[in-house]
Amino acid sequence: MKSVAIASGKGGTGKTTLTAVLAWMASRELEVTLADADVEASNLPLALQVHSQTCTAFQGGGKARISEADCSGCGLCQEVCRFEAVLNPGPGVFRVDSLSCEGCGHCVRVCPAGAIEMLPTCIGEACQGQCRTGPIAFGQLGPGQDLSGRLVTEVRRLGLEAAQEKGADLLLIDGPPGTGCPLIAALASTDLVLAVTEPTLSGVHDLDRLAQVAARFRIPVRVVLNKADLAPEGARRLRETCQGQGLPVWAEIPYDPVFAGTLQAMSTDPRLQPRTDSAAWIAAGEVWKALARELDLPAKLAAR
Ligand code: SF4
Ligand code: SF4
Repeated sequence: MKSVAIASGKGGTGKTTLTAVLAWMASRELEVTLADADVEASNLPLALQVHSQTCTAFQGGGKARISEADCSGCGLCQEVCRFEAVLNPGPGVFRVDSLSCEGCGHCVRVCPAGAIEMLPTCIGEACQGQCRTGPIAFGQLGPGQDLSGRLVTEVRRLGLEAAQEKGADLLLIDGPPGTGCPLIAALASTDLVLAVTEPTLSGVHDLDRLAQVAARFRIPVRVVLNKADLAPEGARRLRETCQGQGLPVWAEIPYDPVFAGTLQAMSTDPRLQPRTDSAAWIAAGEVWKALARELDLPAKLAAR
């Protein structure tokens, strides 16, 4: 089985739309499983009408709690806490501010009285279900939680598990925006990164950062230039950047309201089929063909 992460340096580039369309095309020819690693705004399950899902609470790292009965008031925990999460509201009284606690456990290790314990915290939920193209894994980070990398790792694990159960040929991962810890978690062991970018000033910068992260893990990057026709100068800059960095541009997708409308229809009525005659759909088809060829997928239609 091959796995591909569809990523972009930031949100709003059309990454999820492209993932859904590629999943649709792939599912006509082979077994595909999806993982939506954007756990802060999980839209892929909505776009592809998830059903029969099961979700479980996901425990992230713990938060420290001090037992005032056992605490001797030495203050060591406050000294070692780099996050200034240990408060000292009165003489000899120490408490942990759970919002500031990062769960590193350093205070537990130094406390001479054994007065600190780590309490597990629920940071969100991880789900598995079925959608219009087959199995899908996704997650939802709880409000105010910031440990999304751990939840992304869990979503990826669930996606892999579902893919293996199904004997899938392809795992498509809708990556999180940005280039931080959640992206690194999403990229683990993928065969290829499909970088979706737009012809804006920040597009070059975001693509550059994404390519650097992928290079660190030696994952090849292929580029899709979305809404390429909206800003010819920006598109030219991106082409030059890609050429300079040796990043193949697989397709340029024009701005196409029919394309977006198609996806909306797919998300609202299971009987509706996508409009396959739009310019953007045809360009996305080129991406699918290139992907099937590059990864040697058993896709006969794409091989034509
Ligand atoms: S290190 Fe332990 S004993 Fe010392 S102040 Fe902190 S909780 Fe209390
Ligand atoms: S677990 Fe780490 S962050 Fe939390 S209070 Fe202890 S030392 Fe500070």
